[in-house]
Amino acid sequence: MPKLGNRLDVISESVTLKLNSLVKKMKASGEDVINLTAGEPDFLVHPSLNEKIKEALSAGKSKYTPVPGETEVREAIALKTNQQQLDLKKPWKAENVIVSNGGKHSLYQVFQAILNPGDEVVMMSPYWLSYPEMVKLGEGTPVIVETKPSDQFVATPEALEAALSPRTKAVILNSPSNPSGAVYTKSQFKQLAAVLERFPDVWVISDEIYDQIVFNDEGFCSFLSAVPEFQERTITVNGMSKSCAMTGWRVGWTVGPVELIGALTRLQGQSTSGINALAQAATLAGLALPQEYFSQLKNTYQKRRDLMLECLEKSGKIERVVPQGAFYAFVGIQSVLGSQETAVDFAENLLKEQKVAVVPGDPFGAPHFVRLSFATDEGSIQEGCRRIVSYMENKKNS
Ligand code: PMP
Ligand code: GLU
Repeated sequence: MPKLGNRLDVISESVTLKLNSLVKKMKASGEDVINLTAGEPDFLVHPSLNEKIKEALSAGKSKYTPVPGETEVREAIALKTNQQQLDLKKPWKAENVIVSNGGKHSLYQVFQAILNPGDEVVMMSPYWLSYPEMVKLGEGTPVIVETKPSDQFVATPEALEAALSPRTKAVILNSPSNPSGAVYTKSQFKQLAAVLERFPDVWVISDEIYDQIVFNDEGFCSFLSAVPEFQERTITVNGMSKSCAMTGWRVGWTVGPVELIGALTRLQGQSTSGINALAQAATLAGLALPQEYFSQLKNTYQKRRDLMLECLEKSGKIERVVPQGAFYAFVGIQSVLGSQETAVDFAENLLKEQKVAVVPGDPFGAPHFVRLSFATDEGSIQEGCRRIVSYMENKKNS
């Protein structure tokens, strides 16, 4: 075989996707594995999404779609975003939106569009594992701001300030956060924005893909609703995967200034073209669902979260932080790690010995933690946690 190029040498494989498919395979071959790796809702899409797809099929929607998305879909996304960002000087319109193949694709394209070689992108650890890899693909350099369990994994303004430099091109915010479950309040966003005001050439990329899954009393706060004056320098990314359980149909979007959307459209037009017509039809139905639908799902996740935390309480060796959003518990396991061990070793042994799959914290920048997903049924949560507690209690440090 002729040689590959070097461009991809800088990135690693997605551990979350790899583990999820490994566990699905183990289960399919009859192994009694509890899967707590899933980064996707376990329920089916609302029937109205299927209906919309059937309608689109009957209407013969099998042709190319406009590169940035169908106008109706872009309008619906602009409307949704405006409802979450009420005080904008210039409410978003369809021209401020590009629809892509999932939030991951949206973010990938954003880094391609805004970065020059050597530009720095600040992100909070624990971070979603694809951020650094996508930044590196854009020839940028990830710069990490560490957050602490004692601060509920919320970044302090001082820590952000220390990470900013003349080379900073963008800061990624992710509330609710994968993997930590951190949710930023309006006043916490305002404090971060006060620091960023002194760096007017820095973009803010706000990944709001878990917007419908927030458990605290204040509820979800979109970054631009806290600081509408940042409109010209903020890129909001969202999608259908988490809110509508539509992971496999691949719909995400980017909302931002027209010039940015133009650049992203050029890139998308030379790479994937406009996204799947049927998935866009389903998106329209998803965006039209009433708020009660999302509230009910949120309540289900909240019950599962509480159950998971209660089950984990049985081992004093597990460091727990109550997640305020998303569907992950990010728990500390340092007390049982040997001096040379990291969460990868822990997760491998747990899978081998107790048949429970969790995602190690290493690729999230937190090697003393593991991520447990509660996007699964209560029986799996109970049995999975029982096995984890048993493993923790019996583990001897090596
Ligand atoms: N952002 C975060 C924080 C995520 O956890 C994910 C993973 N699903 C995404 C973006 C992208 O999701 P998708 O590509 O399925 O829209
Ligand atoms: N984002 C989800 C997760 O963190 C799905 C997998 C992925 O896209 O990496 O598990």
